[in-house]
Amino acid sequence: MMPATSDTPRAIRLRDPRTGQSDGVIEARSSSALADIARRARKAQGDWQALGFEGRIAVLRRFGQAVEAHRPEIAAALERDTGRRRIAGIEVGSLHGTLAGAAAAAGAFDAQDWIEGRASPHIRHSPQWAPYPLVGVISPWNFPFLLSMIDAIPALAAGCAVIVKPSEVTPRFVAPLTAAIAEVPELTDVLTFVPGDGATGQALVDLVDCVCFTGSVPTGRRVAIQAAGRLIPAFLELGGKDPLIVLEGADLDAAATAALRGAALSTGQACQSIERIYVARRVHDEFLERLTTLADQVRLNWPDISQGDIGPIIFERQAEILRAQIEDARARGARILTGGEIETHGGGLWLRPTVIADVDHDMAVMREETFGPILPVMAFDDEAEAVRLANDGEYGLSGAVFAADIETAARIGRQIEAGAISLNDAALTTLFHEAGKQSFKSSGLGPSRMGADGLARFLRRKALIANTAPPLPIQVFSEDA
Ligand code: NDP
Repeated sequence: MMPATSDTPRAIRLRDPRTGQSDGVIEARSSSALADIARRARKAQGDWQALGFEGRIAVLRRFGQAVEAHRPEIAAALERDTGRRRIAGIEVGSLHGTLAGAAAAAGAFDAQDWIEGRASPHIRHSPQWAPYPLVGVISPWNFPFLLSMIDAIPALAAGCAVIVKPSEVTPRFVAPLTAAIAEVPELTDVLTFVPGDGATGQALVDLVDCVCFTGSVPTGRRVAIQAAGRLIPAFLELGGKDPLIVLEGADLDAAATAALRGAALSTGQACQSIERIYVARRVHDEFLERLTTLADQVRLNWPDISQGDIGPIIFERQAEILRAQIEDARARGARILTGGEIETHGGGLWLRPTVIADVDHDMAVMREETFGPILPVMAFDDEAEAVRLANDGEYGLSGAVFAADIETAARIGRQIEAGAISLNDAALTTLFHEAGKQSFKSSGLGPSRMGADGLARFLRRKALIANTAPPLPIQVFSEDA
């Protein structure tokens, strides 16, 4: 990789995840081109901020319409990026929800009148919110559009200018999206998508006032260290190893259905995927049987992209991680009940939902992030053991509990060290974005990206403080007063 300071444009070779073929090249922006974009963004940000919340939300709504008008091209590009059709469409459609969330959150920041002081009534203050002028968004390959917009839209609504650096693995959607941005003149300089590689991301961190990073723990740590060196905030959304606990008395059909969807949707390429399942010993075998039966029914979307349930493995190197975890589990005595082999079809790589029994915490599949449709299932003897196992790991993104009733599930959920716990379902953060939640342990850093905080984190609190009485002379504080 070229050093971040390099001004040499770098070619990024695209790979189609359905065929494994290289189907094009894009150029990473040079650092001087990136610096120009940042300069233009800073220059335009003042006018953007001056539009106020209402004005900005109105512009963003027009942007939503422009994206809608370009939906076929954007969805087609995302389809090429990710090898899946239905979810590509859902990603583009998710912009409406993101815009609605930002509009709702903006309501909390209406201009406030002067507030009189409690202790000193002649001193009053006016609360202000000052946006970070320029925000950098660095996004991963698993939901290329959604995970760019989820930070970019609230930052824009807050009055920031935004530069997005998407993953080099999935950058095809940038061209049609840029065409949509071009149709909204107020946005052209304050929202720029910059195709590039890791070096581009690194260069971006040096140019912005605040960085939102979604990606792996090792890269997130590097970004956090670089941001700390510049004393700018880094909001990190990182990996997970989400546990699902199934207690005795839970509806086992519902638990198996949710576990499979939570683990295998998007081929498991989602941070909030269920990656470990703990089941009460008395119902373990019955649950395993139901889960295996359901997992066997999942179809690949090959050869027809519009048929089937799950797509290919998007990032070729991820297949190696999945293969290694399965092999490690097998070598340590686990039983692979379904799936278990990386399949090659038409040059693309696929993995069917892989249910694994007889696992323990010495196995990589129970400790390391998988990011694929693997469902290792382990028995526990009592609730305390279930909680201990769920909390035994470096991640704390989210988790899930199935029980006979919501109150019992909630009692266990309160003890799990993670930012969001789904009760009697799994991975509900995929479907529900209104609840504020933070990432615990190594899964991230910073305020919630969901709920009202998702916008508030881009605003710095500021106060105008006015004294309506004569200023105090220094003698008021003299020792001999
Ligand atoms: P990476 O950490 O590899 O990359 C994330 C982004 O960072 C990419 O755009 C990458 O560019 C860029 N990048 C790489 N090196 C640097 C650097 N030194 N400085 C700045 N940016 C850099 O993650 P993946 O793309 O592989 O994404 C998968 C990971 O994302 C998983 O761990 C998953 O759990 C996590 N994730 C977390 C989510 C959450 O909300 N918590 C949501 C979704 C995913 P390039 O790709 O061009 O190298």
